[in-house]
Amino acid sequence: MSHSPRVLSIQSHVVSGYVGNKSAVFPMQLLGLEVDFINSVQLSTHTGYKNVKGQILSEKDLADLIEGLTLNDIDFYSHLLTGYIGSKSFLKQVATVVKHLKQKNPNLIYVCDPVLGDNGKLYVPEDLVEVYKTSVLSLADIITPNLFEAELLTDIKITDVDHVWKAIDVLHSKGCNTVIISSAEISQNPNSLSVYASSRTGKVQKLSMELKKIPWNFTGTGDLFAALILSWMHKSSNDLKQSLENTIATLQAILKRTVDSINCGGDQIVTPQQKELKLVQSKDDIERPKITYKAIIV
Ligand code: ATP
Ligand code: PLP
Ligand code: MG
Ligand code: MG
Repeated sequence: MSHSPRVLSIQSHVVSGYVGNKSAVFPMQLLGLEVDFINSVQLSTHTGYKNVKGQILSEKDLADLIEGLTLNDIDFYSHLLTGYIGSKSFLKQVATVVKHLKQKNPNLIYVCDPVLGDNGKLYVPEDLVEVYKTSVLSLADIITPNLFEAELLTDIKITDVDHVWKAIDVLHSKGCNTVIISSAEISQNPNSLSVYASSRTGKVQKLSMELKKIPWNFTGTGDLFAALILSWMHKSSNDLKQSLENTIATLQAILKRTVDSINCGGDQIVTPQQKELKLVQSKDDIERPKITYKAIIV
């Protein structure tokens, strides 16, 4: 029996701006996927703003929502996507949800963005690392850590490209068939940012891509990356190269539109609001990405 794509996305919600579900749901819907979403937190904005208020969903709340779906027999999903998760107990409950959904649909694809931190800094409690290592990675089909997260999950200090592939092999050995390092800054060139991807099932492949780095930090791009990879892997029947090229084309077009919209003459400070992704304005770049960077087969 073939089912149309139906994604469950468990991520943050922000009232204003684009991170978590706000940056992931719209692109997946535009690309034709049916998306149900659970908001793991509801915050006024992302945590980079000066003031942040809001509510956190408990593990009991998550279990209740899944039970409601189960009781109505509407807990059949083709994909599960998870991103930022703020507590150990919630992450353990997520692992229970993955097992439940995989029991319901043994072909379910779990795309896990193991959000832990960036550039050497953790932004979740340290005890989440162990839960990802011991309970979550073995359930994930596709994972999208950044370089720092790959280091934490493998205990490998990554200082060159050889280390990247070693870490990727360790992540494969933990059970993940597709591993994508969504951003890494290890090139000799400080103005570049690399992406590495490896698939050990279907078409066995190792890919890399070097991008020109925009000298700003953005938020929501990691969440958007995972959502686009999920969508394109589905639409391309797991063609990793095509999925990566389309994902990067869309991301770079959105970042260009975002940067172009910031009219910062002179040394004016750019506010977090000005740097919010121009997602809605980029509908066409999501639906019809124009390839800008080609992935290199390693
Ligand atoms: P996560 O923490 O969710 O794993 P991440 O740290 O990998 O995410 P980003 O650093 O936002 O997420 O990178 C995701 C993608 O966004 C990159 O592959 C790149 O295409 C794009 N991107 C993000 N920031 C920049 C930037 N400053 N210049 C160019 N591209 C960027
Ligand atoms: N969710 C929340 C609530 C956040 O504050 C952030 C970043 O600040 C994110 C998710 C993740 O953003 P990114 O996609 O840049 O990793
Ligand atoms: Mg990053
Ligand atoms: Mg992230």
